[in-house]
Amino acid sequence: MFRLLNVQGRAALQAGDQWHDLAALSGDASLADPMAAVARHEELHAHQAATEGRAADGEVDASQLLPCVPSPAKVFAIGLNYQSHAAESAMELPPAPLTFTKFPSCLVGPNADVVLSGAAVDWEVELVVAIGTGGRNIAEADAWNHVAGLTLGQDISDRVVQLTGKPPQFSLGKSYDTYGPIGPALVSVDSFPDRDAIELWCDVDTERKQHGTSADLIFPIAHLVSYLSGICTLQPGDLIFTGTPDGVGMASGTFLTEGQVIHSGAAVIGELHNRCVAG
Ligand code: ZN
Repeated sequence: MFRLLNVQGRAALQAGDQWHDLAALSGDASLADPMAAVARHEELHAHQAATEGRAADGEVDASQLLPCVPSPAKVFAIGLNYQSHAAESAMELPPAPLTFTKFPSCLVGPNADVVLSGAAVDWEVELVVAIGTGGRNIAEADAWNHVAGLTLGQDISDRVVQLTGKPPQFSLGKSYDTYGPIGPALVSVDSFPDRDAIELWCDVDTERKQHGTSADLIFPIAHLVSYLSGICTLQPGDLIFTGTPDGVGMASGTFLTEGQVIHSGAAVIGELHNRCVAG
């Protein structure tokens, strides 16, 4: 098991409320880079075990955390991957994973501000897969062996930009700077009691908006990894936003406004807290 953090640009392992600098812990300076740490995910279990009894390098302070996977080559995102969300969107269930991209420059840390781009900006809490071992044409039965871990994300969406045109092209409306908060940690797959049934939720201020479980994914994680690898070579650090359950703002015509705080959470992984600020 491991919990990988990005503390002000350096890879760290979380133990309770404290963190251990990965390069210092391992004696390997190249592991200071969070992307190198993701690519060497198999080694992180032993380094996590070595935090036991070691003096920590700091207390976890969410305001110091940057994206646990800061510079992926690719960020895939899957639309309409929960039946409940497809229904509230009045859209047909897709015959294959409905895939768009969030350009990596949208990624921010777990407590970063979200800079609103307009009057129809929406929340979408999602589990996010980080590829650890790359590959092409990965079999579904082998897919989890290619996953470094899971984190939590918000697929923030400008609905006007997302849905303009016929057919609409989702990627730019979901790629404004700050529209991809992730974190707080990249959590190894073996940390979850059931990797295919992870509870997640989203509150805006004090109101519960979304509450679901990844057991309801139409295309489960192993299928997504296999499907995408049949088209693109997957590389260590590539991210997959796996889709959102029902309860987005668009369904009721309520959108984010300046000063609101989006609180997202997932079992085992932890929470994101993102304040909305004016663009
Ligand atoms: Zn989404």
